[in-house]
This record gives sequence, C-alpha cells and structure tokens, in this order.
Amino acid sequence: MHSWPDIYVPPVSADFPNLSLFSTYQKTLKYVDSSETINIYVCGITPYDATHCGHAATYISFDLIHRYLKCSGKTVNFIENITDIDDPLLERASRDSIDWQELAMSQIDLFRSDMTALHVLPPSYYIGAIESMAEVFKQIKIFNSKGLTYELNGDLYLSIAECEGAIVNLPHDLTESLRIFKERGGDPDRVGKKHPLDTLLWLKARAGEPSWDSPFGAGRPGWHIECAAIALKYATENRDSVLTIQGGGSDLIFPHHYMSAVQGKSLTGREFAQIYSHTGMIGLDGEKMSKSKGNLVFVSKLLADGVDPVTIRVGLMREHYRTDRMWSGAGLASAEEDVARIRKALSREVVAPSVPLIEKIVVALSKDLDTPEVFKLINQWCSDTENGGEGGSAGEVARALDALLGLTF
Ligand code: ZN
Repeated sequence: MHSWPDIYVPPVSADFPNLSLFSTYQKTLKYVDSSETINIYVCGITPYDATHCGHAATYISFDLIHRYLKCSGKTVNFIENITDIDDPLLERASRDSIDWQELAMSQIDLFRSDMTALHVLPPSYYIGAIESMAEVFKQIKIFNSKGLTYELNGDLYLSIAECEGAIVNLPHDLTESLRIFKERGGDPDRVGKKHPLDTLLWLKARAGEPSWDSPFGAGRPGWHIECAAIALKYATENRDSVLTIQGGGSDLIFPHHYMSAVQGKSLTGREFAQIYSHTGMIGLDGEKMSKSKGNLVFVSKLLADGVDPVTIRVGLMREHYRTDRMWSGAGLASAEEDVARIRKALSREVVAPSVPLIEKIVVALSKDLDTPEVFKLINQWCSDTENGGEGGSAGEVARALDALLGLTF
C-alpha cells in the first residue's frame, strides 16, 4: 500500500550519542543497536475512524526516533501496518450501514493526509493485512508443521503454553493477563480452548463477513499473526533479533505486542525485538480519551478548525512520550504561545548561540527522547535571544528543529 509523500530532512551537524530507549518488558533503558540496519515496526491504525490525538502522539514519538536515527546517519527500515480487516472495522461499517472497504479506504486516506500535515516521516513499508495474506499463510503453515496449532469449530488457535517461555514471561500475573486479554478483544472464556490465552491465528468465515480462501479454509487472520507475519516479511535479516524496535501505544503492551513477539520468536527461534517501546495514552480534560466515551479529539478536526500542525506537534511532544498525558484547550493555547515565541525568535537577525543549543537538544533526545528537556532548552534559547544574546544562526536552529523535531517554522 502506498504511504505518504517523503519529507526532506535537513542535515544536522552534531555528535549523536547512541540512542537509548526504555524497553517495556525488560523494564530498563537499552541502547538501540545500530551495527546493522535498524528495523522499526510500529503498529498502525485499524481504519474505522479518523486519527485522534492519541494516535498522533504515538506516531510523532516514533517519528522522533526515526528522525534521530536518520539524522545520525543510521540505516533505518521503518515498517508500519494497517489492520484493514478486523472486527472493529466490520462493526463500525455495519453500524453506519456502509461498505467496510469504502470505510477503510476513506480512513486510510485521512490518516495519510493527517500524517502528511503533521510532518511524520513516511515508513519504508506501509503494509495492509489484506495484501499480506500469503505471508500469514506461510507463517501459520510453520506453526502447523511444529504441531503448535489446534482447531476449534474451524477456527485455528496457537497453543500458547507450548511456545517456549510464553507463559512464564507474561508481563502480568495470569489473572490480570486474562482480564486484559478479554478487555482487548481476546476470548479467554471460549469453551474448548487448551489455554485461555491461546490466540486466534485464523478465524473461520462467518456469514455476512468478508473472507479469504486459505489452506486452512475460508476465513480471515487473527490480529497478532498479521503483525508477526508482516514484520518477518519486511524486516531485513539481522543477527540477533527480527526487529530492533517494536513500537506502539501502551494499550498494545498486552496482549498484542506480547503475543506478536511470542509468535515471532516461536517461528524463528530468535528474539522478536531488542526493544519494546510504548507511548503513553492521551486523555482529554482530565479524562481518558476513548471511543466509548465519545471524547476523541481528531487531528483532522483540529486542522479544519485552523490549528497549526506545528502547534499540534508541540502540544503532543512537550511532555515525555511514555507518560499518560492530557490534551486540553489550555494546553493547546500554551503550545500556540510556545510556537509563536519560537517563530518570533527565529525571525530575528541576531540570535543567541545556536551550536550549544543544537548539541544539547541532540543529547536530550538521545536519553529516551527527553522532550521536556528539549523544550526547556528551546525556551531558554528564546529567552537568551530576547535578552540580546548573539552569535548564533537562526537558520541553523530552524533547520535543526525541522530535522530533529519535525517542526517546520
Ligand atoms: Zn500490530
């Protein structure tokens, strides 16, 4: 599937320390291994609704990682999927009496235009589930040949207890795992399953639902195998792990990323990813933002209301990417003030020294994307400039903010 237009990233002359990121399952900071191609896989949208601020925050966070590595001269292979067939898409299409494919295409188009407006670098590969059926079949056949699958009324499950380490390494205790599994689309209570956490690899065709012919009968793939199969197909062959970074929102920590990683490891015998990176959730005015509460703030709506995309980026980047944080009118106004102040400082002929600012921004980003520190530095530079500081180049700062932070003034 085509992604969105490529974006020019100006060169930044600075020393780039190795990037460290917090890895969720290991609960520690880890350096991104750049000795080989850096394979980043970020879970994309299920296109039943428009991009909301939570999505935007996630894709902007991984864009910062992408930009940092690109600016430091590393080779990045960035893979993003689109779950263009899944229950939520079919449910929404049925609720709104529209064709599910039309709904998906319209929302994917909107996502592309939102990402373009937000200046998010396009992935190297932007891949839909539907176009990946052959890959899914290939991986399920491997599970079959290893004897790790079983059928339940035509649906094909992966026997999780037989995948090495899958149960002992669960990120929560079993009770909590089962609760979250159920809350996020799993079926722990289905009678006949060998283990309640067994995940669906292939769902037998249901009446009135789209299906694809497969060696396992007509049906459609499970969610976790989709991402594992796409990652295995598009990641370059590296030594130690399939991926360098697997990323997404913190709502994907369990079961989605955990189960994709279990599958990837079981299929290849290698670790699925070196770093499992997750972004915090975005709430609205003190409440959790969710479709069930109907309080989602959509990027396209903000843009239609005339909000500058640079302001949206700043508003979502000023706090640390791993914290759960709020979107609010006051926050937006304050981000607008920051943007106006930076723009004004950049328009001056005489500005405070730029080289130390850029070097410090790079160091802050290298430490698990310390954007609160980055904005402290930028604001200090604005103050210094306003107070008559000199010796810097506004052009150099503007290019660095563009390259490293995706902020084009
Ligand atoms: Zn995924």
